[in-house]
Amino acid sequence: MEKLMITAAITGSRNTRMQTPYIPVLPEEIAQSGIEAWEAGASVLHIHARDPKTGLGTQDRSIFEEIVSRIRGQTDAVICLTTSGIPGRNLPIEERFQPLSLKPEMVSFDAGSMNMGEIFFHNPPEFLEALAEKIKTLRIKPELEVFDVGMIDNCQRYLEKGLLEAPLHFQFVLGAPGGSPANVKSLLYLSEIVPSGSTWSMGGIGASQLSMAMVAMVMGGHARVGLEDNIYYSKGVLAKNNAELVGRVVRIAREFGREVATPQEARRILSLP
Ligand code: ZN
Repeated sequence: MEKLMITAAITGSRNTRMQTPYIPVLPEEIAQSGIEAWEAGASVLHIHARDPKTGLGTQDRSIFEEIVSRIRGQTDAVICLTTSGIPGRNLPIEERFQPLSLKPEMVSFDAGSMNMGEIFFHNPPEFLEALAEKIKTLRIKPELEVFDVGMIDNCQRYLEKGLLEAPLHFQFVLGAPGGSPANVKSLLYLSEIVPSGSTWSMGGIGASQLSMAMVAMVMGGHARVGLEDNIYYSKGVLAKNNAELVGRVVRIAREFGREVATPQEARRILSLP
């Protein structure tokens, strides 16, 4: 089996200090948590920035810049910056594109719009097509975030149109409100219908995070864990940091006999330029 690539989703844009005191919010906290996750074995860091005043997500370039420069200074991790904007708000395309100017190796590409419970997640065709064009020019690899099965069809269409380039990398984010459930049947189906030659990683929301990472590990896929998707270490026990969540997956992989990829190995697995 290919080595296991672990992505750490450091903070997201929505979990608050009211929910957990351990969520990183300030730029230095987000960077530090990413560095610790890398030390624990994460090869890819999926990063959102937070507005220090509101504590919620922002696409502000200067905040991303502070986080990225700290992480680049201390790690060789593959940096994947979000383009998802602020949940429930339809931000102008240019605002969502701000992190691209930092030339990360990867950015998130949320492959369709959806109702996430009370929140509308805006990813209309004009946004996705503009994003695909832009990252093709900048040679940035998309992390194709798939919350529901139809989003794979959207990616397939962009691949056929030449907007996306093979090999594709899918990040299944399952168990979100309004999306595909986080279970083995969902993952089997999704992993079977991605274009051949694609790589995929599984990120379960909430309590499914650990079990679905283990399923992905056995299936030969890759895994995403972290406080963006799940704030608990075990039932009723908050995770104190991202490194705890990454470290557990590393230990299980070692027991199972699947080696964990370094960032350089992750670059090869992802066919990064
Ligand atoms: Zn994210």
